[in-house]
Amino acid sequence: MKTPLVEMDGDEMTRVLWQWIKEILILPHVDLKTEYYDLGLVNRDKTDDQVTVESAEATKKYGVAVKCATITPNAQRVEEYNLKKMWKSPNGTIRRILDGTVFRAPILAKGITSYVPGWTKPIVLARHAYGDIYNSVEEKVEKGCKAYLTVCDHEGNEIRRQLIHDFEGGEGIVQGVHNVDKSISAFARSCFNYALDCSLSVWFGAKDTISKTYDHRFKDIFNGIYEAEYKAKFEKAGLYFIYTLIDDVVARVMRSDGGMLWVCKNYDGDVMSDMVATAYGSLGMMSSVLVSPDGKYEFEAAHGTVTRHYYKHLKGEETSTNSVATIWAWTGALAKRGELDGNEELTAFAKKLEKTTLDTIESGYMTGDLIPLFKREGITPVKLNSKEFLHAIAKLL
Ligand code: NAP
Ligand code: MG
Repeated sequence: MKTPLVEMDGDEMTRVLWQWIKEILILPHVDLKTEYYDLGLVNRDKTDDQVTVESAEATKKYGVAVKCATITPNAQRVEEYNLKKMWKSPNGTIRRILDGTVFRAPILAKGITSYVPGWTKPIVLARHAYGDIYNSVEEKVEKGCKAYLTVCDHEGNEIRRQLIHDFEGGEGIVQGVHNVDKSISAFARSCFNYALDCSLSVWFGAKDTISKTYDHRFKDIFNGIYEAEYKAKFEKAGLYFIYTLIDDVVARVMRSDGGMLWVCKNYDGDVMSDMVATAYGSLGMMSSVLVSPDGKYEFEAAHGTVTRHYYKHLKGEETSTNSVATIWAWTGALAKRGELDGNEELTAFAKKLEKTTLDTIESGYMTGDLIPLFKREGITPVKLNSKEFLHAIAKLL
């Protein structure tokens, strides 16, 4: 390797898997170079969460990071780890610094069939991670009151006002949401870049017929950027971009065989990513990557730190935790590093490790979560523990 990967270590069961994946699958084959940041909760607390900021800055510098799942502390974690304070979500901090979009894709193995039989190719989902109801203000409104939408200049003088509703007939609720052109534009470019990278056409849906200013702005920005910056590149690659109503997109996705980038506004992405992940089988088989508009990549697993398995592990009990998504975080990062550095062997190794992992599962050797999903004629699936699964891949590799 020429350039180091930014390595962001994490917590609990995924921290255990992290070490084993390196030892068993990567270090025997790769002269691994990483710049190591320990994002485990203990070290985040010790460094007043500076380590998270530094790891994101390093990602800006080097361009490719691989991240282990981390605990987002809540009140119970503050007590459990005796924390100085309830630190923010590391993913949120990294996303703010890199200003990125998260892309999630199912990892498909033969024998593990989607609940939607037609979906034979992965549906990759891109979720806008800024604004809308996630940064909203809301009020309960008393009977007899009126609610207005007002816009003021920077001195606070009202320049426009619209009645939202006259609550003369009874009490009710009101909500104010916003978005900004800069974020929507960055989102559009991230999506188009990612789609070109992965050879996917782009489907985007919103509700511009009803939301003639708000959702229409998303449509206009996407169309404008596509026409001006991406259309020629897409056509050359044999790809396309469609914008249509969100309900039409949902219907088309159901009828499709997958294989597109489905771009979603924040709320749609929140809801649809759970539907898509569940339809493809297991959280352990979902890869995730954060891509910034200027082309920096942070690869991670889509699941959490698998706390329940970790407590079993601490008691010395056997676990059967699926490491596929975490392996994909490593292979994604290694392949991208190889691509950027012109290191073909490194990229080839990453692809080989992915194929071998799938071959292992497809030949019937897997972790417990996949056993009930696996159906392949002539093969009775064998449940392996966390470490045995990695050794089975290593043997085949
Ligand atoms: P989780 O770690 O994703 O696990 C929830 C359940 O899903 C597990 O108990 C397990 O079910 C199943 N599961 C998830 N990943 C699996 C895998 N690789 N192999 C087998 N089964 C798997 O979610 P959580 O328990 O809600 O959260 C735990 C911690 O993770 C929290 O502190 C949260 O803050 C953090 N988190 C981090 C990230 C991130 O860093 N990206 C994302 C989400 C959550 P069974 O118990 O039924 O086997
Ligand atoms: Mg959700």
